[in-house]
Amino acid sequence: MTERNTATGETPLVAVLREMIVREGPLTISQYMTTCLHHPVHGYYRAQNALGRDGDFTTAPEISQIFGELIGLWAAIVWQQMGAPERFVLAEAGPGRGTLMADALRATRKVPGFLAAADVRLIEVSPVLQAVQRQALSGASMAVRWHETFSDLPPDLPVILIANEFLDTLAIDQYVRTPDGVAMRVVDADAAGRPVFATRPPGDSLSPEIAAFLETAAPGAIFEVPAEDCVLIDMLAARRSAGVAALLIDYGHNETALGETLQAVRRHRYEDVLASPGEADLSAQVDFARVGAAARAAGLEVDGPVPQAAFLGQLGAIERASRLMAANPDKAGDVEAATMRLMAPGGMGTRFKAIGLRSSSVAPLPGFAASGPP
Ligand code: SAH
Repeated sequence: MTERNTATGETPLVAVLREMIVREGPLTISQYMTTCLHHPVHGYYRAQNALGRDGDFTTAPEISQIFGELIGLWAAIVWQQMGAPERFVLAEAGPGRGTLMADALRATRKVPGFLAAADVRLIEVSPVLQAVQRQALSGASMAVRWHETFSDLPPDLPVILIANEFLDTLAIDQYVRTPDGVAMRVVDADAAGRPVFATRPPGDSLSPEIAAFLETAAPGAIFEVPAEDCVLIDMLAARRSAGVAALLIDYGHNETALGETLQAVRRHRYEDVLASPGEADLSAQVDFARVGAAARAAGLEVDGPVPQAAFLGQLGAIERASRLMAANPDKAGDVEAATMRLMAPGGMGTRFKAIGLRSSSVAPLPGFAASGPP
């Protein structure tokens, strides 16, 4: 990682953004987000060892091994539901430190035939995180392969895909209701060359959806939309005749709504989205209604979304935690606290949700049975 400017305290990416703005004009929010996360030298996922207790934010697999273990067993059940194909792709998108996949592979060692059939593929853009994942999976019993994009996955095999906190990293754009009309929100540079929010002059043609949400909204209202069609859904749709199933877990909402959810997290604290480009994690809440609709439009079936606590509960999180506590009495308190954290109502248990996508040939996925009011 390169150092901050000692005079101004700016991150190295501020100068890069300034140059881009001078050259091309103010950046859309998706351009800003993509540059902050993926710039080849100063991007957040390139330059930093971000995740985990010592990093900027802690994800569910880093909190408890139960999370990855249950997801591994989920994948094994889905494989059996698919008729136990001799060869299938077990893929993970955005594997972070590789912890989820390592726990999943360990937990499924005793499922006859499952690991022998699995062609494990990790989709990861960051070379830094790829290296961390290689280390985490160095003990795997099979070859593990890495790809930067979904299009590199084998075209003809059944696919079981898992992704935790992946969709929230995909770039969004924002539109704002201004007194003069609906405008795209952008990032400009102020007189001192620091990034500031601005708006494009209204007048661009708007999608009917953006118009419907914002034209009658109060001034200042913000509406977020994904910058691109979801590549993950395109990949599943293209392979659906071979049989596909995906489990996507993320924090987000069940209905498309007005509101700004783009956020920056650095060293476990929220901060201004423009404050530390490249040194803070940027993410936006997942709109599960939109994900479900896009999947259906692409010819996939949709299970859920259900709250993370309901999903993990149906897979037997409490029973698994009890067994782990009994086997490790000196760690029982830690196991219990971690499990409670994943399941907490009002916390990760409900703010995070799981959605399942599958081809119509695959039975409804485990963990999504109707479970009463969310
Ligand atoms: N699933 C992990 C990490 C989540 S952080 C966990 O639960 O701990 C997001 C991950 O997605 C990182 O590994 C990041 O490098 C990766 N990522 C972000 N955008 C990506 C993209 N467009 N393609 C592939 N990987 C991406």
